[in-house]
Amino acid sequence: MSENKERLYLFDTTLRDGVQTIGVDFSLEDKLLIAETLDALGVDYIEGGYPGANPVDTALFENRRLYKNASFTAFGMTKRAGRSVSNDPGFKDLLAAECDAICLVAKSWDYHVRVALGISNEENLEAISESVKAVKQSGREPMLDCEHFFDGYKADKDYALACARAAIDEGARWVVLCDTNGGTLPAEIEEIVTEVTKHVPGDHLGIHTHNDTGNAIANTLAAVRAGARQIQGTLNGLGERCGNANLTTIIPTLMLKSELADRYEIGVKPVQLRTLTHAARMLDEILNRAPDRHAPYVGESAFATKAGIHASAILKDPSTYEHVNPDLVGNQRRLLVSDQGGKSNIISELERLGLEVSRDDPKLSLLLSEVKSREATGYAYEAADASFELLARRTLGNVPRFFEVDSFRVMVERRHNAIGELVTISEATVKVFVNGSTVMSVGEGNGPINALDTALRKDLGKYQEYIQDLELVDYKVRILTGGTDAVTRVLVESRDSKGGRWFTVGVSPNIVDASFEALLDSINYKLIRDGAPSP
Ligand SMILES: [Zn+2]
Repeated sequence: MSENKERLYLFDTTLRDGVQTIGVDFSLEDKLLIAETLDALGVDYIEGGYPGANPVDTALFENRRLYKNASFTAFGMTKRAGRSVSNDPGFKDLLAAECDAICLVAKSWDYHVRVALGISNEENLEAISESVKAVKQSGREPMLDCEHFFDGYKADKDYALACARAAIDEGARWVVLCDTNGGTLPAEIEEIVTEVTKHVPGDHLGIHTHNDTGNAIANTLAAVRAGARQIQGTLNGLGERCGNANLTTIIPTLMLKSELADRYEIGVKPVQLRTLTHAARMLDEILNRAPDRHAPYVGESAFATKAGIHASAILKDPSTYEHVNPDLVGNQRRLLVSDQGGKSNIISELERLGLEVSRDDPKLSLLLSEVKSREATGYAYEAADASFELLARRTLGNVPRFFEVDSFRVMVERRHNAIGELVTISEATVKVFVNGSTVMSVGEGNGPINALDTALRKDLGKYQEYIQDLELVDYKVRILTGGTDAVTRVLVESRDSKGGRWFTVGVSPNIVDASFEALLDSINYKLIRDGAPSP
């Protein structure tokens, strides 16, 4: 613990509010893995979900899990008006949850109390008091999320404050001010939170923001400046609509920016901060989506520099071009291979990919000119590490020729099928030399690339077992020049069952040819990576 720093508490709601995101659905195993990762990162609270609301969340709270750092928190509504705590089945489920803390949610906007709940202001206050009291009596740490607090405050300041006070008076550890629809701006947040601290001490106040104006983090920091000491947010800013406040950005900002780091401390230690990039990418892996390359601190491009003159300066003194050291957040420096780049770019790119090469290897100049001439014809290696690695390996050393494609042919046919429907089908034939013999395979697909992929991967002899789990995830086509001599660039994203993910590129005036090239690179990359034997 450092001298006189104020402690800020981090409350992660990825597993509860983050699940409000369209297309996000976590299994029990997903939730357990994310909770473990968050605990290792060092957050103070992990909100697991809403026991009783669905089978996954109910199961999650059935067994007590022990976390090293975090208080495991259940979420639920205050008791219903007109019923006692013991007579409300939803509230009983909440109290039965195996958890350290319970975060209750209540309306604090008189308009919502009247219209959504259809109860009186007094009944709502009584529900807050009774519910907080019951949580406290159960031995768990009580806290209250005040939904739509800022809108409520603007509509009826006294009532919004009365809701907060009702919770504090019954012993709530935290009252969390929620900007539920995300429309409030930083200056207003700061002004209102400053006022609230006159009624509820700042070390009992939390802030929960949404990113609807792109200000979720600015709003969070404004609330902290005004005195709030608990920060709610999610990994990668996951959340409904435009997302919640992004803890993946807030955590390093609190720890690495002196304006904040000199005043505040959080539970995350420097050694834990180094797991941040891993945590962010793990979440994307679970969500089966490509990580945001431009994410602050953890994105693949967060510490990437393109220009050649900058690249050699960065190698001499990285601090001149980076606002923080990428190692601190577990990310890495990346100097992009581009037509502006020189040898130093290529060398550090090779180092990043784990390829050893001596600075005065004559083949290095060969690789550089090869990259430049290919980029001039339309190749882009910045987004296609796997194709770059193949090119580098082929130029610098020897890559086995696992198989050779002699020829391929694709047919696309649109016709009426047996029951009179109009269908378009593709059929491909591929002739491959593998294991010393020629193999001819035929494949069908919904399009020419799909048919080629099916045919090519039907029989690759002894390499078949290596590509069984290869899957094409994404496919991007870009037309580079207009007119009849247009060139097509195809970028293919692949993955395998071990969690590997790689990008390959193909360029040709013919879209099928370009796609086939990217597909071949993907297969060859996978064979090298998995150590397939030479022919
Ligand atoms: Zn929310």
